[in-house]
Amino acid sequence: MKVKSPLEIYKLLPQTNCGECGFDTCMSFAAHVLDRTAKIEDCKPLVEKAKKDKKAAEKLKKLKEMTAPEIDEVIIGKDLKIGGEEVLHRHELTFFNPTALFFDVSDTMDEKTIDERCSRVVEYRKFYVGRYLTLDGIAVRCVSNDPEVFVRVAKKVAGYGKPMILVSLNPKCLERALKDVKEYNPLIYAANEENYKEVLKIAKKYDVPAVVRSKDLDMLKSLAATFKSHGVKTVIDPVTEPFGKGLQKTFERVVQIRRTAIMMQDKDINCPIMITPISAWMAKSDDVSKMYWETVIAALFIVKYADVMILHSLEPHSIMPIVTLRANIYTDPRTPVQVEPGLRAINNPDRSSPVMITTNFALTYYTVESDLQSSGAKGWLLVLDTGGLGVEVSVAGGQFTPDKVKKLMEETKVAEKVDHRYLIIPGLAARLQGALEDETGWKILVGPTDSGRLKAWLEQNWPPKKEVKS
Ligand code: SF4
Repeated sequence: MKVKSPLEIYKLLPQTNCGECGFDTCMSFAAHVLDRTAKIEDCKPLVEKAKKDKKAAEKLKKLKEMTAPEIDEVIIGKDLKIGGEEVLHRHELTFFNPTALFFDVSDTMDEKTIDERCSRVVEYRKFYVGRYLTLDGIAVRCVSNDPEVFVRVAKKVAGYGKPMILVSLNPKCLERALKDVKEYNPLIYAANEENYKEVLKIAKKYDVPAVVRSKDLDMLKSLAATFKSHGVKTVIDPVTEPFGKGLQKTFERVVQIRRTAIMMQDKDINCPIMITPISAWMAKSDDVSKMYWETVIAALFIVKYADVMILHSLEPHSIMPIVTLRANIYTDPRTPVQVEPGLRAINNPDRSSPVMITTNFALTYYTVESDLQSSGAKGWLLVLDTGGLGVEVSVAGGQFTPDKVKKLMEETKVAEKVDHRYLIIPGLAARLQGALEDETGWKILVGPTDSGRLKAWLEQNWPPKKEVKS
C-alpha cells in the first residue's frame, strides 16, 4: 500500500461522516482502510457518486490505487485469498493471507484413493492456541492427458467443496475441465513459454486465475506482464527444484521476485508466488525421505514467500509441522494472541472447588487450562482481559489490576458458584495480594509461578486450613 497515513485517504473521501461504511467518521474509516480492516468500496456514497461524476470517479480510482496491496491479491474458489502482502518481513507490519496449502489427487488414481484423499483434506483439523488449523484445497493433476478423464475427476473433486487447482500443461485438458467446473473459480496451472497463448485465451474466456511458470525470471516477468495486461489474475511459479543447488537457486529466485516486487515496486511481477514441494516426490528414495524433503521445502517457503503450495503427503507427521509453522508466521505481531475473558469450569467443579485467575494471553491460558485438565483437579478459572498480555507484563503494565479483577468477579458471578471466598492468584502477581484483598474482600492465596506445579500446590494448600464463610 503506497499510502502511509490515514490523512492521505481521508483527503479523497466525501468527508460527510455519514456512517454508511459502519464507522462514525470518515477519518475512522480511513484508519481502518489503512489497517486493511475496511475496503474503499465500503464507502458507498463515493462508489455511487463515481458512477455519475467524473471527479468522484477519479478520486475512487486514485484511492484504489493508493490502497492496493504491494502484492496482488488473487481469489481461488469462492473466497480463498492468496497474496495481498505489503512487506518483506513480518515484523515490519504483518503478513495477511496465509500460504494456501493444496494437496494433490491425480486423474489416474482409483476412485477410492481420490475419495480418501479429498476427505482427508476436507476433514483435517488441528486445535492450536484457541483455533482449528485446516487445509485449503485440492490440486487435480492431469496425468492421463485425456480431457474426458480429467474432467470426470475434476467434477468429482469439485463435489468436495474445497478450492481447486487444475494442473495440466495441455490447454485442451484445462479447457475441457473448465467447461464443467468454471463456476468453482479454480486456479489453472500452468502457462509456460510453449502454451501461454492458448492458456491465456482460456483464462480470459472462463474468467479464472492462472499460474505462469518459468525458471527464467525474464521469461516469467514477461509471461506475468502479458497475463496481467489482459486482466487475468496471475500467480507466478518460478519452478521448485527440490534438491541440492537447484533448491538453493529456487530460494534465490523467490527472494529476488519478492524483493523486486516490493522494494523496486515492479508491477509486472508483484503476483502471489506458487511453490510445489510435491516435486520432492521425484526423488529416487524411500517414501519417508520424500515426505521429509517435502516438509522441509514447504517450511522453507512458508517462511519466504510462498502464497500457495501444492503438496502430496497427507500423513500427520508431514502436515502438522507445516500448519503449525504457518499459523505462527501468519499471526499478527501487533496483536497478542488472546482468548475470551470470563469464567471457565475445569473438570466439573463444585461449590467447594478452588477459584483461580489467569490472563487472556492465549499461551498463558492454554498452558494453565491444560495443566489443570491433565491434573484432574476441579476448579473455577477466571480469565482476565489483559489485552492478550501475560501475567508478569500485565501486572507491571497496569492491565492486571485489583479493580479489573473485582469487575470480572462481579460480571461472572463467581461468588454465587462457591461457598468459600478464596481466590488463588498466579505467583507472578504476588505483589497484588494486599490490594486484591482490599478491593474484592476475598482472601487471596498466592499460587505457584508455574502452572505445572498447580496440582502439587493444590494438594498441599486446598482446602485452606481456615475456611472463610461468605
Ligand atoms: S461512508 Fe464514506 S462518507 Fe460516509 S462516513 Fe464512511 S467514509 Fe465517510
